[in-house]
Amino acid sequence: MRSLENTDFNKIHALLQTSRKILITSHTNPDGDAIGASLGFYGYLAKKGHQVKVMIPDPDPEFLHWMPFHENLMVFSRDREACTDAINDAEIIFSVDYNGLKRLSHASEEVRKSGATKILIDHHTQPDNDFDLMISIIKTSSTSELIYDFIVASGDEYLIDRDIASCIYAGIITDTGSFSYSCNYEKTYLTTAALYRTGIDGEHIHRLVYDTYSEDRLRLLGFSISEKLVVLKEYNAAYISLTLEELESFNHQIGDTEDIVNYALSIRDVNLAALFYEREDLVKVSLRSKGNFPVNQIAKKYFNGGGHCNAAGANCYISLGETVRIFLDLLPFYKDDLKSVY
Ligand code: 5GP
Ligand code: MN
Repeated sequence: MRSLENTDFNKIHALLQTSRKILITSHTNPDGDAIGASLGFYGYLAKKGHQVKVMIPDPDPEFLHWMPFHENLMVFSRDREACTDAINDAEIIFSVDYNGLKRLSHASEEVRKSGATKILIDHHTQPDNDFDLMISIIKTSSTSELIYDFIVASGDEYLIDRDIASCIYAGIITDTGSFSYSCNYEKTYLTTAALYRTGIDGEHIHRLVYDTYSEDRLRLLGFSISEKLVVLKEYNAAYISLTLEELESFNHQIGDTEDIVNYALSIRDVNLAALFYEREDLVKVSLRSKGNFPVNQIAKKYFNGGGHCNAAGANCYISLGETVRIFLDLLPFYKDDLKSVY
């Protein structure tokens, strides 16, 4: 129970003592933690006898489709009517792995209007004022780990089977870059060990998540690095920008841009890396940093986004060129900070 201290856990636990109509939701542009936490929680709540539905605003990338319970995932942009019914029908709506309803993009107003009890389970900083109850813990690897904590605190560790554990494990590995960041806590490894005890195949999950590139995706990565990477030594920074035309020439699919920014950050002495890419109606910004340089503050201040200290993002409704310009213009203000990252 220790890790859920100072949260609304007891109230949430009490609410779940009778069978409820529950809708689990996660954020737009969902990542492995969003899907892993949502589906792991789905598996658990369904096993507890609740009527559970799970919804995301937009489709998730293909490398997450193997996950247990995935067939239950409803997509708002694909099935608006059924999703709206699920929102209106729910007694409890869980918001998993995001900190404000605006992150539900085109589904946010429907959820906001709902009379359901709204409950946050998340690890991003500064949650919005949208929730009735909250488990908001920043110092954890992932929301998936929080779902594990929730189940254990409920006295239900014995219900965590291989399927639920596989979802949680996938969330932990994707949100920590396979245990390379946001994982400087013993507890993450103890959690992982407990997941292995259910019989999960971690090596197989790793292959399912990471070794499923299409040829086009790998060639897009190659192109991004060889042709589009700009290294700004003076600012210990690097960035890549990709136009819609470039993405289309590689038959771009959702999720294909996922890792690209991390390669820019892997250069020695690059402490800030950015990826900018065009979508039909917006420019997506992905920021990554090393050490104590807080890219979530940059995302918030300059791009109206958010995230974590070392991984943040935003959607910009201006041109790609203008977005890159904002990035180049902010660098001089952070030159010293970027030099002295620890
Ligand atoms: P990514 O760059 O992989 O899309 O996102 C990195 C992190 O930043 C994720 O934890 C994600 O939740 C957060 N993030 C990405 N886009 C946005 C955004 O538009 N708004 C906010 N508040 N956070 C974002
Ligand atoms: Mn997360």
